[in-house]
Amino acid sequence: MLVVQKYGGTSVADAARIRNVARRVAEYARKDRVVVVVSAMGKTTDGLIGLSREITPEPEPREMDMLLATGEQVTIALLAMALHGLGLKARSFTGQQAGMRTNSAHTKARITRIDPDRLREALDGGEVAVVAGFQGLSDRDEVTTLGRGGSDLTAVALAAALKADVCEIFTDVDGVYTADPNIVPDARKLDRITYDEMLEMASLGAKVLQSRSVEFAKKYVVPVHVRSTFKLDPGTLVTKEESEMEDVVVTAVTHDRNQAKISILRVPDRPGIAAQVFGAVGEQNIVVDMIVQNISRDGYTDMSFTVPRSEHAHAVAALQDIGRAVGAQGVVHDERVAKVSIVGVGMRSHAGVAARMFQTLARERINIQMISTSEIAVSCVVEDKYTELAVRSLHDAFALGREGAHP
Ligand code: ADP
Ligand code: ASP
Ligand code: MG
Repeated sequence: MLVVQKYGGTSVADAARIRNVARRVAEYARKDRVVVVVSAMGKTTDGLIGLSREITPEPEPREMDMLLATGEQVTIALLAMALHGLGLKARSFTGQQAGMRTNSAHTKARITRIDPDRLREALDGGEVAVVAGFQGLSDRDEVTTLGRGGSDLTAVALAAALKADVCEIFTDVDGVYTADPNIVPDARKLDRITYDEMLEMASLGAKVLQSRSVEFAKKYVVPVHVRSTFKLDPGTLVTKEESEMEDVVVTAVTHDRNQAKISILRVPDRPGIAAQVFGAVGEQNIVVDMIVQNISRDGYTDMSFTVPRSEHAHAVAALQDIGRAVGAQGVVHDERVAKVSIVGVGMRSHAGVAARMFQTLARERINIQMISTSEIAVSCVVEDKYTELAVRSLHDAFALGREGAHP
């Protein structure tokens, strides 16, 4: 059997935890071939980002990648040493050495090709291959990173390239829950979840898996098992849909606080304006999320949309110019918003789900600022301070809690 395992930042936060991971890996390595992907230790990546901001508010993306890629390199060397200490053969590999090739989109590079020859060699020689997550090498031979949470993607992509039997994502929770267990105490661990639901959850803010890693897993049908680094119990299997999964209408509630709302006021309502506005934002490589356009009055309209909070200043700057160019009245923004969503494949075949969500929020007197829907999700933008209340009341309203938790 060939297993790819990934251990996240909290799981390798200090020397004792790295030794703990080494012990877990050693148990598998006695019977299976193992590739281990690791993240940077603890909050290292946040720390490095903070450090760069002390030098300059707008670092060059190439240098940012050079900086961020150092985090994972520390962990691979230390974990290989810990494995040696347990008498195992092990070797560490940077993203480049592991054959992860990407495009040149620094800080959010996409994988273009994987040549894992050196990993195969190591495995054939009876070694554990320890790979730095989150990093690769571009077509111009530059160091790149895959976006926040990108070690998940490294693991899934390697599992696909090596045709591994399973990709295990070890983390600080026991699996995928019906809501973030850190804010909903009676959230329930799911035994299984479909790729589609997991993909919605991940793109709607459940950071337990990076969304691109789920996209990749779905495309190459990689079985993903999300489980705890600190316990032996099985976690959650992310798999293809099975028919009984549709019986459950809502599977989970997710939230995303990394949101900001931008409105461009009184723009002329004529063809081509939206293309110009969103073209300007897209050129800055900023992903626009929900979009709402008001009904036109006297030939003018307001347009609102959300962007990642961390990029909103950038987006506003880009829009101010375009706003002037198209003759808009102005651009306003609000960073105190969050997105709350319900997700479930059963929504395809059940009516009235969105209405129940709106009623629940109304009962808590939470105003809905924007709404968007997909086939298997409904999302509402609300004031940030209501995030936890909204998530908990929706979790209750759709009876997602542990059995017996509700009288
Ligand atoms: P790692 O460092 O191992 O990659 P992350 O912090 O990226 O871990 O992801 C795990 C975190 O995801 C958990 O600590 C939890 O707070 C959060 N999370 C959000 N939504 C969910 C959910 N539905 N189920 C499980 N965890 C969730
Ligand atoms: N260290 C990177 C991050 O914090 C990648 C990862 O942990 O997955 O985003
Ligand atoms: Mg993560």
